[in-house]
Amino acid sequence: MKKLIIANWKLNPTTLKDAQKLAASISVKAKNKVVLCPPTIYLSQIDYPNLGAQDCFWNEKGPHTGQTSPAQLKDLGVKYCIVGHSEKRETGDTDEMVNGKVKACLAQKITPVLCVGFGTTVEQDDLEVTDVLKSQLDINLSGADASKVIVAYEPVWAISSGDPYATKKVATPEHAETISIFIKNKYNVSAVLYGGSANVRNAKEFLAGRNVGGLLVGGASLIAKDFNEIINM
Ligand code: PEP
Repeated sequence: MKKLIIANWKLNPTTLKDAQKLAASISVKAKNKVVLCPPTIYLSQIDYPNLGAQDCFWNEKGPHTGQTSPAQLKDLGVKYCIVGHSEKRETGDTDEMVNGKVKACLAQKITPVLCVGFGTTVEQDDLEVTDVLKSQLDINLSGADASKVIVAYEPVWAISSGDPYATKKVATPEHAETISIFIKNKYNVSAVLYGGSANVRNAKEFLAGRNVGGLLVGGASLIAKDFNEIINM
């Protein structure tokens, strides 16, 4: 069955030329469905079938310096938008703000890729993790049609600082599957992805999880050879 693989390029690369080169090197006929999320500034100049943004604002327009709205993303043909990434929560996004972003995306028929897992710690057992996720998801999905939302479970301690092969602690495929089942059963979301140091060595095992709908890939999505392998697993 086709899974969904989303590339989160974060603040990379530093030139448009390199971004276009990277996009051009990613297969458009992969076994799985692929979404590329380049930095917002490059979105209008990247040619790839499915594009996503890495964040958005909750208002459509107005006096909001530096923001990008889902209406603007929609106008560029963007179909997905990551919201609530731990790197945004770290710099101040609250659960209520994330909820506003989810609803603003849905209003424009952009699929939100709602990241949860911020605040989890490496030694927590599954029950403690689901407690944290519940507190996030109850607010993040409040008043939203969850069936149109993709959730990405990203245990914050497993996210790489750039090199997905250097992370000391990676979540197990069993943990990803257990948490995916919890989220799907409780919130009726469209799919649950796993994210956190996914790479060519471990992606196949994560993707084997029946309830893991795909992967959100950071560092490894910048290495064309590795990412092409992952999207064809
Ligand atoms: C991410 O931050 O969304 C992510 C999955 O990063 P990495 O794969 O580099 O851990």
